[in-house]
Amino acid sequence: VERHLSLHVALFGDGDGVTITVHDTTLEKRTEEMHSDFVANVSHELRSPLSALLGFIETLQGPAQDDKEARVRFLDIMIQEANRMARLIDDLLSLSRVQIQEHVVPAEAVNLTLILQNIVDILSLKAEARDMPLILNAVDRAYWVTGDSDQITQVFQNLIDNAIKYGRSGTPVEITCNFLDRMPDRAVPGIAVKIKDHGEGIEEEHLPRLTERFYRIDKARSRTLGGTGLGLAIVKHIIMRHRGRLNVESKIGFGSTFTVILPQKV
Ligand code: ADP
Repeated sequence: VERHLSLHVALFGDGDGVTITVHDTTLEKRTEEMHSDFVANVSHELRSPLSALLGFIETLQGPAQDDKEARVRFLDIMIQEANRMARLIDDLLSLSRVQIQEHVVPAEAVNLTLILQNIVDILSLKAEARDMPLILNAVDRAYWVTGDSDQITQVFQNLIDNAIKYGRSGTPVEITCNFLDRMPDRAVPGIAVKIKDHGEGIEEEHLPRLTERFYRIDKARSRTLGGTGLGLAIVKHIIMRHRGRLNVESKIGFGSTFTVILPQKV
């Protein structure tokens, strides 16, 4: 590992004393680099749909002015590109909001069963289109957690949406809730929610990086599926704010299981 050190030398007395301070700035340097990487990524991600839009506008003003068929087709693509920009901006705002709130732990009583049921209802059309049954194993009991209801909804929306996007068509997505006697790191009871898909799985080397902003295993694929690359980063920060846990297990060829652990309402 390359380390960055800053050296400060000061003389004191009549020049017969010297203090040397060595300051390790490796972490600051890394944070700075990550920040400028992020800004570069955001700019690039916004620039590419914008360039596409400008290109189509120019074509519609010029060469394709009287081409009715091209006009319909181009407007269709333009809507898709504009929607992509809108999704990215929404995700950036969600991420920045939760990062600002990170030190305030939310304490609303939240009915997880209800939230999961609603998400399953909302996403069932999308799942049906891929012939993937959404199975919710949580309906016979009420699972209550403490937190922010909108943000918890966003966590499971992102994870279940990913399971549908990256799962294999014709196989189910299973969502299972369980009570835990204690959270992994402290003596308060928790609730674990597993979201299991039967997609192609994720190579081990990617697992620790999945929640990084804009980290995507297959960029082109994520993009065609409408992804922004921010979904799991948002998930991670919301869970951190709730003092919860996120685990990912995956096996190539068999699928992935994302487990969220949240503190139970007591
Ligand atoms: P995206 O908008 O690209 O889906 P996410 O932050 O939600 O962004 O996920 C980051 C990446 O993690 C995805 O691009 C994909 O490569 C991978 N990924 C997420 N969920 C799954 C899953 N259930 N199965 C396989 N790969 C996944």
